[in-house]
Amino acid sequence: MSFENPKDEFSQNLGNKEAHSSISKVSFGEKIDEEEKKLLMEGFEFVFQKQGEHKEFIKSLAQNNPDNAPAEHLKVVFFEKEKDETEKKIIDLVNEETNKTRREFSLPELNIPYENIYLVKHDAPWPADSIEGFYSSMDQFLAIKEKKLSGKEYPKIVFAKNLIHEMIHFKTFNSVKGNNDFLDVKPYKEGLKTFPIREEQSFFEDLNEAVVEKLTIEILEKLKNNPLFQEEVEQTEMLKNFYQEHAPSVVDGSEYYLELFSDHGKNILWKESFTRKEEREILDTLLEKIWKKNKSAFPDKEIVFQYFKKAAFTGNLIPLFRLIDETFGPKTSRTLAQKSGRPNEIKEFVFNLK
Ligand SMILES: [Zn+2]
Repeated sequence: MSFENPKDEFSQNLGNKEAHSSISKVSFGEKIDEEEKKLLMEGFEFVFQKQGEHKEFIKSLAQNNPDNAPAEHLKVVFFEKEKDETEKKIIDLVNEETNKTRREFSLPELNIPYENIYLVKHDAPWPADSIEGFYSSMDQFLAIKEKKLSGKEYPKIVFAKNLIHEMIHFKTFNSVKGNNDFLDVKPYKEGLKTFPIREEQSFFEDLNEAVVEKLTIEILEKLKNNPLFQEEVEQTEMLKNFYQEHAPSVVDGSEYYLELFSDHGKNILWKESFTRKEEREILDTLLEKIWKKNKSAFPDKEIVFQYFKKAAFTGNLIPLFRLIDETFGPKTSRTLAQKSGRPNEIKEFVFNLK
């Protein structure tokens, strides 16, 4: 089994220009037809740059023939909420901040247009209650569900946090694969997450989410100083201090938004926390162990995280695998990859690494 076969892949030379879609590679199982690959790349660029037309196409599919109803995740196009000026400003800020991370790895800017961001009404149908947003590489959009408690406003910082997470998915390395059939194309890589050819299971899904959320926390920390979020940040800090002092069991420190309000005479505390706690703990343990075993090479733990970030943004996982295998022994990275989707097993494996 191999993780990457560079000969199989076709890379578009983007230079220092702006990227025109999130897909930077098209790969095929066996046969390579450069002309078809070029057409596919252009197809993704069209969907990215003309999302408005793509949206009308999805809508017309359902309207012309109800049996042609769009896939569950595509239904979001029917329940979009119009974005206000503040939300547009937040999108600009998050685009700018996530482009800075791309620049760290010499990648061209990728600006996600307003049209490719679906802010979905809080009471609309949604793929799963457990998620607040998702990204679709095949349709080149991200969607976020507005959240409202007892009719309260959607907090700006909650939108920003979810937007950062999904935009990182959008801006890490993305590629698609085909199986000799021009029309049968599927995602192949999304950041560290890989869907190997001829295998159903994906690799590195959990660690990819951990990397994305850890980076989300770092970026939100920088954006918190923006006057747009000042009131919400101050209110959160005040409530956090109050609870830590008077009722420490109510908060655990991972909250990035708190609001106290009264609903029908009852006090309600609205809490929003960073996600993927278990996955982030696994990642942090892994970073710590790698760092401790290579202290002469790495001045701090953050440099080790840089390996994960670089792999996710460039799609080249080899330096990261080499680091893991040279630290813990041959095939460690492979075993780690294969445990994808089973966080308990990953946890046990990582906690026992020596
Ligand atoms: Zn995610």
